[in-house]
Amino acid sequence: MTIAQRRLPNTLNLAATAIAAVDVTSLADAKEAIFYAENAGIRLRCLGEGSNVVLMPKVEGLVCYVKDASVTLLSRDDEFVRIKVGAGKNWHELVKETLSQGWFGLENLSLIPGSVGAAPIQNIGAYGVEVAQFIESVAVMEANQIVREMPAKECAFAYRDSIFKARLKSTANAPVILSVTFCLNRRPDVNLSYAELAAFFEFKSPHVAKPKSKLPSPEQVADAVTAIRRAKLPDPREYPNAGSFFKNPMINAYATPRLEARSVRPYKFGEGYKVSAAQLIDHAGWKGKRRGDVGCWANQPLVLVNYGRASASNLLAFAQEVRESVAEQFQIQLELEPSVVS
Ligand SMILES: Cc1cc2nc3c(=O)[nH]c(=O)nc-3n(C[C@H](O)[C@H](O)[C@H](O)COP(=O)(O)OP(=O)(O)OC[C@H]3O[C@@H](n4cnc5c(N)ncnc54)[C@H](O)[C@@H]3O)c2cc1C
Repeated sequence: MTIAQRRLPNTLNLAATAIAAVDVTSLADAKEAIFYAENAGIRLRCLGEGSNVVLMPKVEGLVCYVKDASVTLLSRDDEFVRIKVGAGKNWHELVKETLSQGWFGLENLSLIPGSVGAAPIQNIGAYGVEVAQFIESVAVMEANQIVREMPAKECAFAYRDSIFKARLKSTANAPVILSVTFCLNRRPDVNLSYAELAAFFEFKSPHVAKPKSKLPSPEQVADAVTAIRRAKLPDPREYPNAGSFFKNPMINAYATPRLEARSVRPYKFGEGYKVSAAQLIDHAGWKGKRRGDVGCWANQPLVLVNYGRASASNLLAFAQEVRESVAEQFQIQLELEPSVVS
């Protein structure tokens, strides 16, 4: 195991170097990394593919990359299949592989960048599905170097949130996720609850049950999601970005008429209402706006783009301006979705 300084890849293309970084390829490596960080009195933090982080130029502590990309079949019956997947596996590769095996459920989450190990952190979600729906447990190496298989119900999964995200904000060592166990369907059960996806297949009213024979296959859903995403989101290789830069805020019922009066339509979500942050940003006049090398993507204003040599500070300053103007106009505080890593 070699610990060394390293440039940190990230989809925002920010220049960032870790003072100490290491590849973790075995349990022994993970233990050694935790031991090293503790002895050196530095913080340990895992990174995946860098698609949901704002990296500051110098990242302190020990940065760990879990490399295990194995997929292990644990059990299978007529209804379900259970698989254990190493944290280092690329997410979209996993979605494609599961579909090719006839294991269903992840199709709506096609083309989300990043690694399997990061998926539980913010409970990745898209097109009406959250990964938590398919997670049985998450294997985590704790600071005491013991691996704990955490059942999903202990992970406190919520909208773009989990117990792991909360722990990342604390000062203690961050959790090291080694693998994720999924329970997937063996029978297609496509989810077209997201209006834009239903519209793609020309389903006029997504909540009305359709005869099974008329439903698209999970592979067709994956293709549709891929096409919709490609049309709407900038490819980070061309326009470096971290996907949604802001979470959709939750509000109370009393605030809904005020927003509706300004053509922003909150929608029911759990006990409260969710507001499209993209709509708020759009109404606040940020869509397509640029300041130097940072800009707000015109087709999806939730996405901030590094058009050249923007620094993390440039990006965060731009995001702060967006947040302030939304707060001033709508009395709503936007929360950043990516983690800031320093
Ligand atoms: C174009 C684009 C589109 C996107 N669309 C979506 C979307 O539709 N839905 C969605 O939910 N997200 C989306 N994202 C965000 C991102 O893809 C996900 O959050 C993804 O899970 C991040 O994976 P990563 O490997 O890049 O993690 P990183 O960005 O490297 O890390 C993210 C967080 O996870 C932690 N982490 C990573 N690996 C581990 C590990 N093994 N153990 C412990 N902690 C770990 C890091 O410390 C960090 O806090 C998008 C991003 C981009 C660039």
